[in-house]
Amino acid sequence: MCKTEDLYQYNDFNNLLNNLNAVLRNISEYNTKFNAFCRVYEDDAKLSINKLSEKIIPNISNNSNNRYPLAGMIIGIKDLFCYKGHITQAASKILENFIPDYNAAVVDMLLSAGGTIIGHQNCDEFGMGSSNTSTIYGVTHNFLDYNRTTGGSSGGSALSVQANMCHVSLGTDTGGSIRQPASYCGIIGFRPSYGVISRYGVIAHSSSFDTVGILGKRISDIIDVFNVISIYDIKDSSMVDYKKLNTQLCNINSNFKLCILNNLLDLSILQAEVKDGIKNAIDIMSKSFTIYEENIENVDLCSSVYFTLTTIEASSNLSRYTGVNYGYRTKEYSNFDEMIIKTRTEGFGGEVKKRIFIGNYLLETNSENKYIDKALNLREKFRRRFDEMFRKYDFIILPITSTTAFFINEGLEDNNSFWDDNFATLASIVGYPAISIPCGVDNNNMPFGIQIIGNKYKDNELLEFADKIVKLLK
Ligand code: GLN
Repeated sequence: MCKTEDLYQYNDFNNLLNNLNAVLRNISEYNTKFNAFCRVYEDDAKLSINKLSEKIIPNISNNSNNRYPLAGMIIGIKDLFCYKGHITQAASKILENFIPDYNAAVVDMLLSAGGTIIGHQNCDEFGMGSSNTSTIYGVTHNFLDYNRTTGGSSGGSALSVQANMCHVSLGTDTGGSIRQPASYCGIIGFRPSYGVISRYGVIAHSSSFDTVGILGKRISDIIDVFNVISIYDIKDSSMVDYKKLNTQLCNINSNFKLCILNNLLDLSILQAEVKDGIKNAIDIMSKSFTIYEENIENVDLCSSVYFTLTTIEASSNLSRYTGVNYGYRTKEYSNFDEMIIKTRTEGFGGEVKKRIFIGNYLLETNSENKYIDKALNLREKFRRRFDEMFRKYDFIILPITSTTAFFINEGLEDNNSFWDDNFATLASIVGYPAISIPCGVDNNNMPFGIQIIGNKYKDNELLEFADKIVKLLK
C-alpha cells in the first residue's frame, strides 16, 4: 500500500520547511498517479514559507493572539476558487486558460492570515458530480485503493488531505461535495451554514445551495480556517454577518440532545459494516448524551428537490460562458451565433450539458407548475421541519454515504450514489451546517463517515461537538 510522509501540525514553527518539503515530496511521488492537484504552486509556496520564517514567525510571540493565525498552514484550493494570476478553470474546457485578475474573497482571507496556497485541486466540472470522473484533468483515485473513487465533486481536495499533500483543503459543497468525498477518503469534511462564508470569486454552480467549506484531518485545523474565513463580505449579497450573531461561544455538555433519523438507519441499501458502524457510534454517543429518535418524511425526495432546483440555477449561472469575454472560444465559425453554439458544444462536458438541458427544460415547462413549484414547496416543508426539530434537539445524526467508496469503473447507475445524494442534500436544501467525520472501516479497510447536522448559524457549536465525537470514536 502507498504511504506518504506525515505532516507536523501547521503551527509547529520549527518544522515549517519540513512540512513544505514533505508536502512537495508527497506530491511529486503520488500526484501524477492519483491526480489530486491540477496545478501546484511550488514557487509561490516556497516564497510564502520563506517570508513566514524570516519576517512573521519571529514576531509572533503569542500565537493565540496573532495577526497570522494560519501561519504555516499549507492549503489546497478546489479549481473553483479564483486565484489572481493563476489559471482557474472549474475542471472545464470552457474556462481553458482563464486567469483571474482578482482573488476570491476567501483566498484573500487565507493569504492575509498567513496561509500558504499549494495548488488548485481536481474536481468534477463546475462541481457537478459524485465521483470526480467528469473532469478535463482525468479521474482522481482513492489513496487507499487505486481502483476506487475519491468521491466528488471535491475529490482532489479530499485526496490531497488524505495523502498528506496539504493540511487542509478549501472545497465547495452544493449537495454533498465536501462531505461525501470526506467519508470515502476517511477524513473530515465540513459544510458551514449557507451564507456564512463569502462566495465572491467562487465559480458558481447553484447559487441558493453553493457553500464554501473545509476538508481536513483535524477538527482544530478546520476550526482555525473557519474562524478566518467566516467574515462578512459586502460583495456577496447572500451573506449573514456570522461574527455578529454571537453564536461562536459554546460549551458542549451532557444536556445536549441528539436526534437519530431512524428511518435512514434501517435502509436496505446500507452496507452492513456501515450500518453496524453507525449504530455502534450512536451507542458510544448515548453514554455521554441523550438520544432521541424521529423520522423526517420524504427524505427520499431530497435528491429530486435538489436536482430540480440546482439544474435550473446552473442553467442560468452557466449561460455566461459564451466564448465572448474569456475562456475557450471555438476556432472556426462564420457568425456570432455559430461561435457561441460551437463554443458551448465543444467547451462543456457531458454532465454539465445534461444539467443545462434539464434546467432549461424545467424552466420551459414551469408554466404548468409541474416541477419547480413542487420542489420549492418541499424545500419549504423541510425548512419548517428543521425549525421544529431544532427547537427540540441540538444535533441530528444520520449517514452520509450508504457504502464505502465505490469502484471507479462502476457506472453511477450501478451503485447507490443517486440515492445517497438524499443523505447529503437534506442539509443543503435547508442551508444548515453539516459535517462528516470518520466513523469506521469495512472489511476491506475502506473508511466511511457519519454525518452530524447542527443548528443554523451554530457552526462553532457543531465543530466543537464533532471534535468531542471524533475523540469518543477513537
Ligand atoms: N452529487 C452532487 C451533484 O452532483 C454534489 C455536487 C456538489 O455538492 N457540488 O450535484
